[in-house]
Amino acid sequence: MAICVASVDVRGLVDSLNFAEKVDRSLGLIREAYEEFGERLVVADSLGKDSCVVWDLAKQVSAKLRGFIITTRFKPPETKRFMVETVRRYPELRVFSNDSGIPDRLYGTHPDQCCELLKVEPTRRAIAEMDVACWVTGLRCTEGRTRTDFQEIEERDEGLIKLNPILVWHEREVWQYLALYGVPVNPLYAQGYRSLGCAPCTQITSDPNERAGRWIGTSKCGGECGIHTRPLQVEYQI
Ligand code: SF4
Repeated sequence: MAICVASVDVRGLVDSLNFAEKVDRSLGLIREAYEEFGERLVVADSLGKDSCVVWDLAKQVSAKLRGFIITTRFKPPETKRFMVETVRRYPELRVFSNDSGIPDRLYGTHPDQCCELLKVEPTRRAIAEMDVACWVTGLRCTEGRTRTDFQEIEERDEGLIKLNPILVWHEREVWQYLALYGVPVNPLYAQGYRSLGCAPCTQITSDPNERAGRWIGTSKCGGECGIHTRPLQVEYQI
């Protein structure tokens, strides 16, 4: 049966399913997508806690599943080290970045443009070069104001399916999974970060909003880099 893009009562699932039911649901979604797309199902690994869960779930479905990591020159050293360790363990994860020249401190003056160049552009390239038919993300609808309008199975770009298999998980359930299954995480979480990004744009806060520490002091505060909101399926010369 073909995987179906449909509108589901996501908020209802957040509150009605328990932890074990959510794990089963997420595994079922990945399994169904793998049956349809095979190795053209590819995981986007941000190296954050949510991606760690999704990667672990995906590997339970098939050890063959591939993934990609988008990195930038501004990632904290801890994240860079964690990336090297992760790729050493899983060489089927490919790393993409945009290392071309950009204006100094673009993240301060034009953060949207900076993210477009350093994050969205390499994501488009990863999708084109890896011949992705369906990409898998760690996006959750409980993360903050910018993440409430998503579905578990989406087609925001024509011909490119996006699977958000842990969309209905709470932050607590992410940590529950990581603890129960002994999944390693970025050591920055031990310092108090709740959402990780590039060093100049990420701070520790006590705000209840999980993404409140992102892009503080800019119009993008608590917002998005663009990989979940910008078109990804554009003409790309490989
Ligand atoms: S998170 Fe900040 S430094 Fe990283 S790409 Fe976006 S604006 Fe640039």
